[in-house]
Amino acid sequence: MTVTRTFSIIKPDATRRNLTGAVTQILEDGGLRVVASKRIQMTKEQAEGFYGVHKERPFFGELVEFMISEPVVVQVLEGENSVQRNRDLMGATNPDDADEGTIRKTHALSIGENSVHGSDSDENAAIEISYFFSDTELVG
Ligand code: GDP
Repeated sequence: MTVTRTFSIIKPDATRRNLTGAVTQILEDGGLRVVASKRIQMTKEQAEGFYGVHKERPFFGELVEFMISEPVVVQVLEGENSVQRNRDLMGATNPDDADEGTIRKTHALSIGENSVHGSDSDENAAIEISYFFSDTELVG
């Protein structure tokens, strides 16, 4: 299997509750390596652009306001089949539907405040990584 990279965000509900380490521990225990990480305050324009695919959805405004409500931690994760592995470790979007042991089952508050974002394809991972990181920040 090939080693790939994916993009992750530790969302405001998790940073607010001091869960950056706890979330990262689940990712690392699950076989992913954090190859880049920074804590940022997302601007409204950044959040709207990042979630542009959802702009017609009824929860778009709420999602953007949530993502700029507190700092987030953006990360690049590396590992075998990293996109799917990260999605497996995250669990379902709605924590009520997430499997035991997943980040969302363990830590998420609701379908909106669900602690983590993870890319859903290799193609989107590359787009999302370059949205927040320059090549020189990816030190491996
Ligand atoms: P993901 O890939 O599992 O993160 O899920 P989606 O791509 O479908 O949705 C993106 C994000 O939008 C989710 O992680 C949630 O934070 C948010 N979201 C999705 N559905 C809802 C909803 O019904 N209500 C609210 N408030 N937020 C939602």
